[in-house]
Amino acid sequence: MAGGWARDGAVGEQIEASISDELARMKQRGAPQGESRTHCAECEEPIPEKRRLALPGVKLCIDCQQERDGAFQARAGINRRGSKDSQLK
Ligand SMILES: [Zn+2]
Repeated sequence: MAGGWARDGAVGEQIEASISDELARMKQRGAPQGESRTHCAECEEPIPEKRRLALPGVKLCIDCQQERDGAFQARAGINRRGSKDSQLK
């Protein structure tokens, strides 16, 4: 890409960004990362036992996890990473 405004490039970056976000989320969910916490790492709400059993290594309560997932989706949709990239270059 020649830099500046290139729509094709932006779309490519957006797809790449959402794939790597998806992979990061799958890793977080699929691979146990130590022991499940009894309380949320962010807000210290108790995490229900059902959730801890369903998600080994879970560290966040449902609210914080959803907030995090929502942030991922918003970032991929708006494609902030792409515009930030072109500013840095
Ligand atoms: Zn929480």
